[in-house]
Amino acid sequence: MKQLLLLGAGHAHAEVLRQWALAPVPGVQLQLVSPSALAPYSGMVPGWLAGHYRFEDICIDFAGLAARAGAEFVPGDVAGISADARQVQLASGQRLAYDLLSLNLGSTLLPPVAGPATLLALRPLGRLHAAWEALLQQQADDTGPLRVTAVGGGAAGFESLLAVLARLRALQPGRQVSGRLVTRGALLPGLAPAAVRAAQAALQAAGVALHTGTGFDTASAGPGDLLLWATGAQAHAWQRDSGLATSAEGFFCVDAQLQSTRHPGVFAVGDCAQWSPPLPKAGVYAVRMGPVLAANLRAACTGGPLVRYTPQHRFLALLATADGRAIAARGGWSLHGPRIGRWAWRWKDRIDRRFLARYAVPAPAASAGR
Ligand SMILES: Cc1cc2nc3c(=O)[nH]c(=O)nc-3n(C[C@H](O)[C@H](O)[C@H](O)COP(=O)(O)OP(=O)(O)OC[C@H]3O[C@@H](n4cnc5c(N)ncnc54)[C@H](O)[C@@H]3O)c2cc1C
Repeated sequence: MKQLLLLGAGHAHAEVLRQWALAPVPGVQLQLVSPSALAPYSGMVPGWLAGHYRFEDICIDFAGLAARAGAEFVPGDVAGISADARQVQLASGQRLAYDLLSLNLGSTLLPPVAGPATLLALRPLGRLHAAWEALLQQQADDTGPLRVTAVGGGAAGFESLLAVLARLRALQPGRQVSGRLVTRGALLPGLAPAAVRAAQAALQAAGVALHTGTGFDTASAGPGDLLLWATGAQAHAWQRDSGLATSAEGFFCVDAQLQSTRHPGVFAVGDCAQWSPPLPKAGVYAVRMGPVLAANLRAACTGGPLVRYTPQHRFLALLATADGRAIAARGGWSLHGPRIGRWAWRWKDRIDRRFLARYAVPAPAASAGR
């Protein structure tokens, strides 16, 4: 029996499990390691922070998907890989052997010590649920002025800041809650200038002070500060010690077939992987890599030919502004404004719900006689 081990409940692994459930490969035992049964879909995280969705509504049920695919769901955190020994170590001490390995572990952040300020790190996504619930409880008892600062000017910092401000202001209407966004670079780099202008207008409407080209000094934050840490994605610390080829930043280097450049039979996708030339760390790439990964894992199991992944150069970005609107941007064009923005939000909501519905596990049928 061949052992195919999937590490991480990332976007691409959802597609692998969905396809495996439809057509399993005989003679292959599948295992999935994930810290939790439910994994949030990143595109809907800002909507959940804003209170538009419940947490369960933005998650893929990976334990259910694994069961449908006949895979073993192994709860746990990966703590290391020994590629030459073909072994994975979990934080619990458990070791798992594999013949083929697939890595869809996302990325992380190493936020600094925030001193007296409260800090919410936006990655890894798996830890955000508990952290946000705890923060909401803690804030409920506090009535003093609060300053919310997003550190990082990408989509995650922009959308999360607006979402958090909208939620806290709705929960405590009488409280003084101000916002600012601080980024070393520009706001939303890579987006069309018209979309960036629309984003600036959305920040202004929410009373957010924007500081671009500015590094953030945590020493300047006090007890009345809430920091949303959303700087660039970082590799998990243990990736470098895995024996797999990694980039200078520690991400797994893969070839055009999404296979490790040093270890055939090991595949890596999404944020944890490094494509050449590097791709932005965005969920759209992890999603689009899913079908290619599913085909190549199947081919690696059966000895068939591997297929190539071709990254798209332009993709649709729909940025939620937490006021019932979104900014749509693709390449050089952008759609925004009071009416179109509301339509763009509904469009985003439909796309996101359709994506989740693809991986929904039907509830078990009611038992006979009930
Ligand atoms: C707030 C926010 C909003 C975003 N919005 C967008 C957006 O609208 N559009 C977009 O394209 N991108 C967006 N991004 C970026 C996007 O989240 C990532 O690029 C995307 O999630 C990467 O997908 P992935 O499948 O590689 O990893 P993930 O979706 O992060 O999945 C990785 C999985 O691995 C698991 N994992 C991590 N460490 C371990 C471990 N040690 N052991 C076992 N399992 C582990 C995690 O629990 C998680 O389930 C957003 C990011 C944030 C933070």
